[in-house]
Amino acid sequence: MDKIDLIRIGIFLGALILFSAAEALWPKRPRLQNRFRRWITNVGFVVIGSLSLQLLGPLIAVGIAAWASLKGWGLLNIIDAPLWLELTIAFIVLDFAIWWQHVLSHKIPILWRLHKVHHADRDLDASSGVRFHPIEIFLSMIYKCGVVCLLGPPVIAVVIFEITLNAMAIFNHANLALPRGIDSPLRKIIVTPDMHRVHHSVIWQESQKNYGFNLSIWDRLFKTYQAAPQAGQQGMALGLSDAQTNDPQYLGWSLWLPFRKYK
Ligand SMILES: [Zn+2]
Ligand SMILES: [Zn+2]
Repeated sequence: MDKIDLIRIGIFLGALILFSAAEALWPKRPRLQNRFRRWITNVGFVVIGSLSLQLLGPLIAVGIAAWASLKGWGLLNIIDAPLWLELTIAFIVLDFAIWWQHVLSHKIPILWRLHKVHHADRDLDASSGVRFHPIEIFLSMIYKCGVVCLLGPPVIAVVIFEITLNAMAIFNHANLALPRGIDSPLRKIIVTPDMHRVHHSVIWQESQKNYGFNLSIWDRLFKTYQAAPQAGQQGMALGLSDAQTNDPQYLGWSLWLPFRKYK
């Protein structure tokens, strides 16, 4: 898996550099908070996240997929479909599962405590795509392993999905002014920055919209799609309504947020 790990990290870093440069060249919204401080915090999440995942190396979804195929576990290991079909099914099912996980992260109070760390960011840019609490990353990995066990996708399908999810999370959090002519056709299929930004609104109703990370179909299908924020992309406020302060740009405050009492 060494080569694939290198490719994955390469694409991840490439996407981070590409979209950071693109959002610097064509910014959508003026920044409120210090970019440098936010980046230290958001990149701090990656360091903590990858360190904690490293400890659980054998448990990652890719390893589970290999193990499930050895054991003949999971739907796709039972039926005998051509690889292209299995890859397509696996991608769609995994994306649907991640969409559900995101919905539940908002609806179940204890999960929301963890997920609100992601939502506390008051500016959105490429680095927000990696701002997840380490416990949320851990739980999400266990959930993904469960889905992989039931589905039994080809190992390469999980690798492709993980790489795409990483790159897409960075892309759709970018503070990137995509021309309308590109955004509109793109979001018929995938989630664009303007689409995901609605989900980060301080307005609660808007944060219950646009849960997708990769495919935009799930929100259209389940009527959680909202094309644009009420206050407009420039007028909307981002973050948590009860944390419109400088606190979210600090790593310590952000890590401790799930354990804080509600106001
Ligand atoms: Zn969310
Ligand atoms: Zn987000």
